[in-house]
Amino acid sequence: MKFTFVTLFENLVKPYFEDSILKRAQNAKILELEFKNPRDYAKNKHQKVDDYQAGGGAGLLMFPEPICDLLDIIKKDNPNAHIIFPAPAGKPFRQIDAKRLAKKEHIVFVSGRYEGIDERVIEEYGDEVFSIGDYVLTGGELASLVMSDAISRNIKGVLGNEDSLSEESFEDGALEAPSFTKPNIFRDSAIPSEFLKGNHAIICTLKKEMSGLKTKYFRPDLFLRNKGQFDEK
Ligand code: SAM
Repeated sequence: MKFTFVTLFENLVKPYFEDSILKRAQNAKILELEFKNPRDYAKNKHQKVDDYQAGGGAGLLMFPEPICDLLDIIKKDNPNAHIIFPAPAGKPFRQIDAKRLAKKEHIVFVSGRYEGIDERVIEEYGDEVFSIGDYVLTGGELASLVMSDAISRNIKGVLGNEDSLSEESFEDGALEAPSFTKPNIFRDSAIPSEFLKGNHAIICTLKKEMSGLKTKYFRPDLFLRNKGQFDEK
């Protein structure tokens, strides 16, 4: 998988990939990173990339030409590059998207700054527009990092133990059941006794029940959306 980050601030993105699992994935040639700065494609004297909003309005907007020129070059090199614009107006980014996008060969994240990017760029080049939550960030870099991280761990070979993926939250529309490790008793709080007896069928049933209860309590929206799933359990 190749990730291209189109950003005015590559130093906000780069360090995240310089350690741990995502660093190992690059060393193993599973993941390749590229950074492109729209400023390098600005043709004006001061490499300006933003301008006043048409019709007025607070704040500046990134204007089309540098980003479009840059995206044209990317598309020419790889017509299959999948272009994602993070934006508050996008559809919510979910685990199901992370899994689907992990099968792509090249994803391009275009980070907006200031008041965002001229809408015509998004309309022409955006394969998808995603929001990572109902709040406004100062730029698209964090959102691109969130999405690329979630996508990466679904790429074959990135995680040491891929079994862990199938047991995680959102896999079957539910939150993961509570998990415990040693010691068996910590500050008067004990691990559920069945977890220590080694009967995997019972542990599995218990975990499904706990997962359903946890989802209903913490994420009633998720519970209702996947209600059929829980009825079967
Ligand atoms: N004026 C825009 C609005 O009200 O919708 C907000 C622009 S925001 C200050 C600048 C950039 O941050 C956006 O272009 C986008 O790339 C990114 N961004 C902000 N909030 C986001 C969110 N919730 N999800 C994804 N990207 C976001």
